[in-house]
Amino acid sequence: MNPIYRKIATIAREEIYKFIKLHDISLINYSYESYFQAIKEQYHIKVLEHHFENDLISGITMIDPLGISISYEKDCIKERQNFTKCHELGHLLLNHKGSLFTESLRNKTSQELEADYFASIILMPDIVLLTKIFYQQKTYQEIMQDLTVSNKALEVRLTQLFQHYTDMTYPKAQGIVTSFRAGTAAGKKLISYLEIIKDNIISNYEMIKIEASDKLKLLLEKKKFITHTEFPELQNQSFCQKIKNILPHIKIWCKYDKGLTLWYAWDSKQLTNIEVNKKVQFAFYDLQNKKD
Ligand SMILES: [Zn+2]
Repeated sequence: MNPIYRKIATIAREEIYKFIKLHDISLINYSYESYFQAIKEQYHIKVLEHHFENDLISGITMIDPLGISISYEKDCIKERQNFTKCHELGHLLLNHKGSLFTESLRNKTSQELEADYFASIILMPDIVLLTKIFYQQKTYQEIMQDLTVSNKALEVRLTQLFQHYTDMTYPKAQGIVTSFRAGTAAGKKLISYLEIIKDNIISNYEMIKIEASDKLKLLLEKKKFITHTEFPELQNQSFCQKIKNILPHIKIWCKYDKGLTLWYAWDSKQLTNIEVNKKVQFAFYDLQNKKD
């Protein structure tokens, strides 16, 4: 498999696997959508539709000091719009040089190729394809539907997956994918090849770890206040010291009374001291009752 694909596959897998783990996303019901929404919010991206005659430009990304915007052709089918949206995110997250990216069939630079690889992995992560094909035994058509991707996008993605994990040639990998799509007995070959590569796919997934600090940050963005009963790391002194250094707006404290200790953390940007004290009282009361 070519070195550009290897490079982008490593980056895109790390990106999407971290997201899946951090947000406890089910591999069975995976959709790129929640990732897209999160990145859109994080970078304050404006997402718009556009229209050019004859499908001239499928997507545009503009990055300038006033903000980032992404647009896609409103007359394209949903599957292609999804691909375009993820492709445009690719330009941003792969730190591509430039401030204006325009997609057309005639325009295939190496940055465009990288953004294509990125999109295809975000839409169809290795571990999700393994889950659907090997464990859920879904058909080609069901996978297209589940992930809202086009026939061509899934064909290219599966072909590249086999090329990436084995030394198969492109025509051979494509042949296996084509018979799987046809649903013939020969299509079973694809399952047996997956059996060979599945440990590699799983270990790539297991390798990606998320930091407890990232998890705490995410929890507090949602809940503003948590205690050690939901997040036991709050009792660990070196973890608390680390949070103090890297996320100063997150405060961690404890209340000790009648032989019981409650560790708690809150987001000082979102809660006042009075609000925190109230929550501590309730949480401590809960803790006492659980003990009794
Ligand atoms: Zn592009």
